[in-house]
Amino acid sequence: MHGGFDIPRSHPRYESLVAREKLVEMFEKGVVVPQGLIAHGRGECFDYLLGEKSHDFALEAERVAAAYLLLSKRPVISVNGNYAALAAGEIARLSEALGGRAVVEVNIFYRTEERVRRIHEVLASAGVKGLLPPDCEKTRVPGLESPRGIVCVEGIASADFVLLAIEDGDRTEALVKWGKRVAAIDLNPFSRTAQKASVTIVDEAVRATRNITRFVDELSGASEEELRSIVAGYSNRETLSRAFKAILDRLSSAADSGVLTQ
Ligand code: ATP
Repeated sequence: MHGGFDIPRSHPRYESLVAREKLVEMFEKGVVVPQGLIAHGRGECFDYLLGEKSHDFALEAERVAAAYLLLSKRPVISVNGNYAALAAGEIARLSEALGGRAVVEVNIFYRTEERVRRIHEVLASAGVKGLLPPDCEKTRVPGLESPRGIVCVEGIASADFVLLAIEDGDRTEALVKWGKRVAAIDLNPFSRTAQKASVTIVDEAVRATRNITRFVDELSGASEEELRSIVAGYSNRETLSRAFKAILDRLSSAADSGVLTQ
């Protein structure tokens, strides 16, 4: 049962319907804001265009993000309402695979301290490791006015690498300008977040987090030299280009045949 509705497992859009139900439930609990529901719809649209699968360019970016999580001095996973609502269990497994070496910070655009506490509760009860408390010491991201610029001193402010998802472009850009290396999970390669991030993961947040965790597991015995060679050859421009081409190819074959075959 999800939100009072029984979604049959056999439904072709089961995963997508479960995600919607989770978001509605978390909206009712004050974890997700109405704007988050709208942002989810935009993401779903791009996932549809991409065929709802993790493409090779996404897997490559996920492997690079995993390498950065293992290489960086102060890696931080930034979690907002949508990301927590959809992927709290996956974030917990990622934090565990990292052995608590990454700090997890609740960081939100539409900030109220009450909502920060609620998201924190969702993550804590999923078993997330390295979670900063809601009353962490705060500072501001340079250039970001209003509460959307508030970050934890021990978290994003002192990070050299930030993994974030379903994020606003302005905030992503401000973090990059502040000197952080940012890996962003965002299904829309046109978004400012996707365009401004150092590593863009054009994939759905739950799938992406599972894939990153798998790569962290695979790479956790790798030497620093091996990890450095994974990140050294990476071009984000090429990743974005491949994501646009994947959409183009799928649209082109659908336009040719009128019938979806993949
Ligand atoms: P930007 O400000 O970066 O130009 P935007 O205005 O679309 O983009 P938001 O409204 O904050 O920014 O939306 C967040 C982004 O997250 C959207 O681009 C959307 O495609 C993406 N998104 C939504 N749901 C998911 C999801 N489950 N997984 C990955 N990406 C998602």
